[in-house]
Amino acid sequence: MDVRLIEATDDPERVICLGARNDYSPGFVGDQTFEETMATVEGESLEEKKRTLIGHLLSHGHYGPFEHPHATFAIEGVSRSCMAQLTRHRHVSFDVQSMRYVSFDDVDPESVREGEMVVTPPSASDPNWVGRNQKTGAVDEETVEKRKAVFRESVTRAVEDYQELLELGMPPEDARFVLPIGTEVNIVMTLNARMLMHVADMRAAADAQWEIRELTEQVLELAEEWCPITFEYYNEKMRNRKNRLAP
Ligand SMILES: Cc1cc2nc3c(=O)[nH]c(=O)nc-3n(C[C@H](O)[C@H](O)[C@H](O)COP(=O)(O)OP(=O)(O)OC[C@H]3O[C@@H](n4cnc5c(N)ncnc54)[C@H](O)[C@@H]3O)c2cc1C
Repeated sequence: MDVRLIEATDDPERVICLGARNDYSPGFVGDQTFEETMATVEGESLEEKKRTLIGHLLSHGHYGPFEHPHATFAIEGVSRSCMAQLTRHRHVSFDVQSMRYVSFDDVDPESVREGEMVVTPPSASDPNWVGRNQKTGAVDEETVEKRKAVFRESVTRAVEDYQELLELGMPPEDARFVLPIGTEVNIVMTLNARMLMHVADMRAAADAQWEIRELTEQVLELAEEWCPITFEYYNEKMRNRKNRLAP
């Protein structure tokens, strides 16, 4: 999995502050300098004032201003299962690599056996891995080796069958029905800072699946570089907040 920030609102925290100060300023923020707009906010420097205001907004649950800045992420190589979870978030915009227009006809099935094209869950190779609704707890090495072999055989065969169906003239959009849900996909997604916090509430939480958690952790790291005051605050004080909306 690879996650990159490919486009984002410039100076997002200035935009958040402009939105929030608009609510309480008698003057028009469009006519004022940023310094004038922030004049009554506590702090020595503009940076401090931004920190004060953003901390105040987040601690009081005033999330509207965080809808102004947007970020676009490119995500490479997550499973279609992870994609299905991610795309449930209705305020996020997505582009998803098509299996109607992209056919995996030149993928060497042997590379699939080695772990290409289909995401391998950690439980296929880690004997100590314990996931949700697992029938057993930790298992011995021999069992996990069998798991790995069954998993590899199954996904390799699926790709071989898919390619055979393409050779038999089936369109990619129908041949794909035999591919596993672990098949990798690339996604571009755009979301605002408020939604990013909401997705993180749901998907970086302990009850989310390992893959979407890993994805969300990477998105959060990039978000902290992009919008540092907000996501530092989120990471330190809001993660695992009790009042998040449960699924
Ligand atoms: C651990 C976990 C397990 C899950 N298991 C399942 C499962 O077994 N089956 C399943 O189907 N889904 C499952 N989901 C998905 C979950 O039910 C939500 O669909 C998903 O997390 C999207 O989040 P959201 O509901 O907050 O909506 P989002 O689309 O992210 O919207 C954000 C917020 O906007 C508001 N909103 C958006 N649209 C509406 C609307 N139409 N009406 C009212 N309010 C709205 C809500 O307040 C919502 O919280 C699971 C999610 C998690 C995190």
